[in-house]
Amino acid sequence: MSEGQAIPEGQLEAASPYELRVDGAKHLPETDVRAALASGDMGFLHSFTTGSAVDGPGIRVVAWTSGCMWRCQYCHNPDTWKMTNGIPVSIAQATTQLRKYKRGLRIMSGGLTVSGGEPLMQHRFVLKLFAAARQLGVHTALDTNGFYGDRLTDADLETVDLVMLDLKTWDRERHVALVGTDNAPCHAFARRLAQLRKTVWVRYVLVPGLTDDPDDVARTAAFTASLGNVARVDVLPFHQMGRSKWERLGLEYKLKDTQPPTVDAVERTIGLFRRTGLEAC
Ligand code: SF4
Repeated sequence: MSEGQAIPEGQLEAASPYELRVDGAKHLPETDVRAALASGDMGFLHSFTTGSAVDGPGIRVVAWTSGCMWRCQYCHNPDTWKMTNGIPVSIAQATTQLRKYKRGLRIMSGGLTVSGGEPLMQHRFVLKLFAAARQLGVHTALDTNGFYGDRLTDADLETVDLVMLDLKTWDRERHVALVGTDNAPCHAFARRLAQLRKTVWVRYVLVPGLTDDPDDVARTAAFTASLGNVARVDVLPFHQMGRSKWERLGLEYKLKDTQPPTVDAVERTIGLFRRTGLEAC
């Protein structure tokens, strides 16, 4: 899809990220995908959703990127793992989409959140979109696992008002088993954000049997508190809303028998973060 071609009406907006979307860029030659990633003039999006009250401050538009380097066992959106499952969207088209909502976003103290997938898989596009948002006077939030944080320079980070950092688990081996890689780069990115005094919200998905070990949570909490720039921690209870995607994609879903955490378990985990002086909910 070239810069000038419009995305068909209704194709990009989704009622929720739980819509299964595949093969949006299936017919794009590999060379075009590479060129898009290199320039950032075109990105690959699962969708735009509007009216989110849970993806950053205020009411927000969320751009859900495709492409992820991890394979978290509890991922709710495995259709975003593959870059070419996303719809090719030029930066001009994405900006036009955002412009439609800019007034409302300001009134509702909201902004643009870029989530995924993992947005830093296509960091050049994301940075261009954030720059465009800034020009429109729209607040910017990056929801990332931080593994590719070194792709962003300090100057790049100036276009990001808020980083929402998804910490998965503290223990290295547990982290490898859960997502597929070490967590050292994520912690290095967190420390760098602290040095830059960038405002961060930490997100922690609570999955019974995987991320609910009290000692492990306490270590994550101690690290988070030591940073000094984390304004808030959101403990997000695991749920089964992504299960049908795994099944429809023919992927083995290991958590089909895992129940959401109990209210008590969520409260206990929030308490472990609060005990360190963090604001957690
Ligand atoms: S980092 Fe996010 S998008 Fe990637 S596999 Fe994990 S939960 Fe899914």
